[in-house]
This record gives sequence, structure tokens and C-alpha cells, in this order.
Amino acid sequence: MEFHQVGPSITNTFESDSLLRSTLRRVLPIDVFAKIETHLKHVGELAVTDWLRWSREAETNKPRLLQFDAYGRRKDEIVMSDGWRHLEAAAATEGIVASGYSREFGEFSRVYQAALLYLFHPSSAFVSCPLAMTDGAARAIELYGDDALKNTAFTHLTSRDPSKFWTSGQWMTEKTGGSDVSGTSTVARRNGEAWSLSGVKWFTSATTSQMAMLLARPEGAEEGSRGLSLFYTELRDAKGSLNNIEILRLKEKLGTDALPTAELRLNGLPARLVGGEGHGVRKISSLFNITRVYNSVCSIGHLRRALDLAQSYSRVRVAFGKPIIEHPLHKQTLDVVESSFRRAFELTFRVAHLLGRDETGTATERERLLLRALTPISKLYSARVCMAGVSEVVEAFGGVGYIEDSGIPRLLRDAQVFSIWEGTTNVLALDFLRALDKEETRREFIAAVEEKFSISVLGEAWSKAKAILAAPKDEAQARHLSFLVAEALTNAA
Ligand SMILES: Cc1cc2nc3c(=O)[nH]c(=O)nc-3n(C[C@H](O)[C@H](O)[C@H](O)COP(=O)(O)OP(=O)(O)OC[C@H]3O[C@@H](n4cnc5c(N)ncnc54)[C@H](O)[C@@H]3O)c2cc1C
Repeated sequence: MEFHQVGPSITNTFESDSLLRSTLRRVLPIDVFAKIETHLKHVGELAVTDWLRWSREAETNKPRLLQFDAYGRRKDEIVMSDGWRHLEAAAATEGIVASGYSREFGEFSRVYQAALLYLFHPSSAFVSCPLAMTDGAARAIELYGDDALKNTAFTHLTSRDPSKFWTSGQWMTEKTGGSDVSGTSTVARRNGEAWSLSGVKWFTSATTSQMAMLLARPEGAEEGSRGLSLFYTELRDAKGSLNNIEILRLKEKLGTDALPTAELRLNGLPARLVGGEGHGVRKISSLFNITRVYNSVCSIGHLRRALDLAQSYSRVRVAFGKPIIEHPLHKQTLDVVESSFRRAFELTFRVAHLLGRDETGTATERERLLLRALTPISKLYSARVCMAGVSEVVEAFGGVGYIEDSGIPRLLRDAQVFSIWEGTTNVLALDFLRALDKEETRREFIAAVEEKFSISVLGEAWSKAKAILAAPKDEAQARHLSFLVAEALTNAA
């Protein structure tokens, strides 16, 4: 009889994840864990049933841009798959964004949310991307929005009702730059209280969202990033037509196939200022601090899924007379990835908890500093760990790992995005340095770390990091320093 390889299989991703469960048991009070356990079990089941099916459908039926109707009229409609729509609705129903704002579990709300997102992301076809921006927009409105925005947009963004739930875009990147937005050429013209924006936004993900937060330069404002302001806009009018937006094209990407990422021309888009004129970059950073935490959570969720598949496969694939997991070298190869995954997981959940403490006013000054400094570190580190780990997983499948319909190549292509959007590795490493710009802040950071971790656990990586922090600032060392800090802080993982 002809031989056929057996493929991997996965089961309820909450029940099969001992690290997630033990972390939640350790971090959360017993009553909080008891309240969320049933929900997480439900979500872990959806991740291997309905969501998995819908995400495959969304990835197969990619978004299409219909620029014109049959009679030549411009319509600029992005056609999305049913799978995508179901996943967006499920995200609302399960409260993936809402759980961060109902704050039902006080300082632990962001930990609960991180667990939900971690389980959702790998079967979400990157609906997790608009969710990140949605959550970030909710935070920016919470901090800087007026009552009208809080009563409308914020309510939609944090709704658990799919018919009321809105997602948001975040439009920063222009042709002149994404890391460096100082060349932003979108102009904001004022007409009484109303504003209209004109320019080209070069990367806009989830262009099917109902609203967006974006940067633009009010007419006459100074050059550079200091002249930018933060704006809120709704993409469509009451009839559902785009508000003076042309969709120039959908980008052809390396991965994230189900997610529409468009180039847009704004031709007098109606918009509202958020938090007054100026300081746009500072205001939008409240948004991307959230999206960076999402990115970390999605990176570790992504790697968890890849590892689950590789570990499952290793138990069914036989070579040289036994399952490959019984070959010590293959086992060790997977164990190394598992161990780097655990480090990234530990750092990510620590940052999520700090975020929850900050937002509920329970964080100490030192914890707020840790949150500021570790958000970029956690994002850059988890992205890199994910990419390297998924690459190893491809190889762990042998030839099959290179074949499209095994689903494994997609994992690798998708993983690459984590280190680019929401700030590249270098940009984040420099952001970490910026967070510790003053000598006094560097001393406080060292004290904060040593208050939370024992020196013996921090190990040699910490000694090396401290030596760099004590020396004159050197941008070229920023990346090396960031990885040393990540390594030191996760030694106990
Ligand atoms: C799939 C996808 C979706 C996206 N969706 C959105 C979206 O919805 N909204 C949005 O606003 N943007 C979006 N982006 C854009 C993304 O945020 C930017 O591409 C990213 O921030 C990098 O900016 P850039 O492309 O200008 O790269 P550049 O800034 O040109 O970077 C090029 C290289 O230079 C390095 N570099 C830059 N400056 C420095 C420095 N000072 N020191 C050391 N190294 C440096 C970078 O690390 C990088 O390796 C998306 C991108 C992708 C791939």
C-alpha cells in the first residue's frame, strides 16, 4: 500500500497551552482566573474550529478592489471575504477590544485581553491588525478626545455588538516615510471648526474601517514633525460613499494576504482635530504604544501556533524507525525554539500587566518608566523571536514545510511583518534609548529593574547592558543593548 505522511493536528489552544494557564494562575487573583477561565476555554475551542475555517477562507479569498462600476463610475469598493466579516464580528462578540476598556478586572484587564488576543490572532487572518489600531484609537480618544468623540466613536470602538462595532485605521506613513513622519505632506485646511485634509497616505491597513486617526499638517504650521496635528475622520458619508477618498491601489504584499492595505489619496477629506492643534506625534504615540503591545501578543501567538504544529508533526512523522521527536537532536532543536518563545511570552505578558496597572492608576512611578522603556523592547524582541522561531518550524516540517498547501510557508511570510509595522527593530531600539535619554532616567530604570528582579537571575546580560547604559549614548549600540535587556529580563522564563 502506498505510504502517506500524516499531518499535524491541534486541539483547544487554551487547554493545550500549559504556559498560558500557569502564567494566568500566577499573575491573576484566584477569583479573576476563575471568572475568565470558561471564556478562554471557549475562545481556545473557536480558534481550532470556526475561526480557523474562516481565517482559511479569508486568506484564500483575498480582498479585491473594484475601482469602477460597469458604467465607468468610480466606486472604489474593497470586496472582503465572508470569513473576514465573521472574524471581525467574532472579535466584537468576544470583547477583544472591549475587555481592555470595561476594566472589569482592574489592573488585570489588559492581561485578560492579552490572553484573548493571543488565542484569537493565529486564527484571525490578521483581523488582529485592525483590532490593534481600534484599541489604539480608543486610547487616544480616551486621552485626548472631546465628549462628542467619546460618546460616538469611542462607544463604537469598544462595543461588543457586531452591528455597532467599528474598527479604526491609523494613517501615518507617507511616501516620505513611516519611521520618520517629519516629511508628512498631507495638508489640513481649516474652515471654521471644520477641517479638510488633502494628500497621499502610502500604507493604510484595514481600509474597510469606519474611521481613522491620522497625522496632517495644518496650513501654515511649521515644517518637520513638530508642525503635525492629530485628526479623526470617518471614511464614509451617511449613504456609505467614501468621503473624498480615492483608493489608488491595494498593495501586493509578502504576506498578510487577507488584510487590505491600500494607498489612498485624500481630496478634501472632512476631519476633526483631536486634542487641539500641534503635538500630533506625541498624541498618536498613545495609539502606537497600544499597537506595539498588540504586536508583541500577536507575535507570540503566531509562534505558539507554529510550534504547536511542529510539535504535533514531530510525534507523527517517522524517520529512521521512530517519530522524529524521539531523535534527541530534533527534540533539542524544537526545545530551543520553545525556550525562546517562553522568554518572549514572559516579557509580553509582563508589559500587558504594566499597561493595565498604568491605565487603572495603580502603577508606581518606576512601573510607569518600565512600561515606557519595555514596550519597544517587548515589541522588537517578540517579533524577532517569532521570525527566527517560525523559520525553524518550516525546517522542522522538512520538504512539506516548503509546500504552499501545507499552510506552513504562510506562517513564515506573515511573521516577517511583525518586525516592520509599528516600528522596525532599529526604530524601536532607538525609541528605547530615547525613553532613557537623561542620565537620571537611566539610573532610575536600572533601579526599577533591580527592584523587580534579583541580580542573580538577571545574569551576565544585565551586567553588559548596565555597562552600555553607563557609557556615553551610542546609537549604534541601541539594538545590541535592547536584546541584552530582553535577555536579562527573561532569564527566569
Ligand atoms: C503590511 C503593512 C501594513 C502597514 N500598514 C500601515 C498602516 O496601516 N498605517 C501606517 O501608517 N503605516 C503602515 N505601514 C507602514 C509601516 O508602519 C512602515 O513601513 C514602517 O514604520 C517603516 O517605515 P518606512 O517604510 O518608511 O521605512 P524606513 O523608515 O524607510 O526604513 C528603512 C530601514 O531604515 C531603518 N532606519 C530608519 N531610520 C533609522 C534610524 N534613524 N536609525 C537606524 N535605522 C533606521 C529601518 O529600521 C529600516 O530597516 C504598513 C507596513 C506594512 C508592511
